[in-house]
Amino acid sequence: MADNPPPPPPNPYVAKRPTDKWRHRGVTYCRVFGQWECEMCGKKWDSGYTWVAIKKYEQNLDVSHFKNKKDRMYQRCSPCNKKNPNKHEAKLVSFKLLENNVKLVKGPGHIRNLCGKCNKGAICDRAKVGLKV
Ligand SMILES: [Zn+2]
Ligand SMILES: [Zn+2]
Repeated sequence: MADNPPPPPPNPYVAKRPTDKWRHRGVTYCRVFGQWECEMCGKKWDSGYTWVAIKKYEQNLDVSHFKNKKDRMYQRCSPCNKKNPNKHEAKLVSFKLLENNVKLVKGPGHIRNLCGKCNKGAICDRAKVGLKV
């Protein structure tokens, strides 16, 4: 680190729905809109079910602070996971507040077997149980 930027201003997370917060093993996560990239094949996608540690979110830290397992729930790349199941985690490229962004998510919807939170039994999109995912 060459220079010392001033600490970023705090950024309180306001949950719009009770389900926007999730507690797991002593860490509370909050739901945000994330952009992901697979470092193996370069595939990119957006997810309205991106979960980051609320403590770090509220410190307004940039995305480079959200690399570890406890700082964000992982997501996996669909094609790469087919080739090598459970062998990689995608990179969280950026994230922002969910509101107004969730409608912009394109693609097949939330893929539960590629999501760390869903894989722990806490299904993100439980409301849409009838959907094939
Ligand atoms: Zn990939
Ligand atoms: Zn999920």
